[in-house]
Amino acid sequence: MTKYAAFYVPLTAAALALTGGVSAWAAPASAPTSTAALAPASIPAGALELAPPGGGWSYEGGAGPEHWGEIASTCASTPTSRQSPVDIPLRSLTESRKVKAPVLDYERAAFTVRDTGETIQGDLTTVGSNAITLDGTRFELRQFHLHTPSEHMIDGEPAAMELHLVHQSAEGRLAVLGVLLELGRENAALAGFFDAIPSAATATSSVAPRPVEINPAHLVPGWSDLIRYDGSLTTPPCSEGVLWNVYERPRTISKSQLAAFTAVHPENSRPVQPLNGRSLFEVDAD
Ligand SMILES: [Zn+2]
Repeated sequence: MTKYAAFYVPLTAAALALTGGVSAWAAPASAPTSTAALAPASIPAGALELAPPGGGWSYEGGAGPEHWGEIASTCASTPTSRQSPVDIPLRSLTESRKVKAPVLDYERAAFTVRDTGETIQGDLTTVGSNAITLDGTRFELRQFHLHTPSEHMIDGEPAAMELHLVHQSAEGRLAVLGVLLELGRENAALAGFFDAIPSAATATSSVAPRPVEINPAHLVPGWSDLIRYDGSLTTPPCSEGVLWNVYERPRTISKSQLAAFTAVHPENSRPVQPLNGRSLFEVDAD
């Protein structure tokens, strides 16, 4: 109960602060604990966009994850950071019946597939057609994208890939559903998406985004407990206050699907970040 309270209070405080103009976006990395514990009241819509190619960061070398704090202070690890991804200690989680699983309101819709320079992303063509409800708040699906290997780990083990479904509320708050993807059978729901990935030779901004129809309901596990925690974007600017929901049960992708992605992006995964006292909650699927 104590852990539950510690988790819930920041969300409530953030909701109450919506009209207060408080923004962790502009807060310095050295913000005092009491401020850093609050989820941001509002994250600019632009935070949804990954930085464009040439944005000053990458996944390796001198612009790799350990240097992101030099271009976006929120990415720098501090004792009060609430960053993502994390290693989920499944065996020692606190179960909470008061934290509800997200309610999915998904239907078949058109997405445009494009290479952002750091991932392959499907942008929902008509925002408003797909959404989730979390703690009574509706979050509209905006886009989904992939990472390889997975960013979240479970008990120290990564998966081959991870799918992120990124949603935004009317107030600008973000909620992400994370699905680990293991090697196995072909992922039929993502077949059109993988087919639309530009080859490495043509992956330039001059290639027009390709349309594909997907029902996001088919992208998440049929039933699975979830892990809820308060984290951040996993790419610069690493904005905090993101409501993470990671499914425990993985889905699969085939070797050829993985190869289609790694031919363009061999590795685009941020290392796991310290929990810094945050609580993770296991939420029953039903
Ligand atoms: Zn992501």
